[in-house]
Amino acid sequence: MTAASKAPRTINDLSQIGRYAVGVKWSDGHESIYPLENLRRFCPCLSCAGTAQGTIAHDSQRLAQLVRLGDTGVFLSWNDGHETIYANEQLRSICRCAYCAGEPERPITGD
Ligand SMILES: [Zn+2]
Ligand SMILES: [Zn+2]
Repeated sequence: MTAASKAPRTINDLSQIGRYAVGVKWSDGHESIYPLENLRRFCPCLSCAGTAQGTIAHDSQRLAQLVRLGDTGVFLSWNDGHETIYANEQLRSICRCAYCAGEPERPITGD
């Protein structure tokens, strides 16, 4: 078993912020704000992975539904009909806040 400090991060609070962003409060106290454009750009599904380059169509970054999947992740559906599921760790890894983006010793791939 791993130590408590290695426990997976879970989401304490998930909310839409205005029309263009989603806010996440994590179990370790960190708070993330994700622009919808980034959530769609980094969609980890098989058909999007690595292909969401350039401009993302307007309808493709408008959120139709936002659902927390228990302690495992987040489900988003988009106005263009696409659906995205982020595992908690995937979502945390794309946080671009000053703290996350400014950690020079943080390995890109993590473990
Ligand atoms: Zn996708
Ligand atoms: Zn962050």
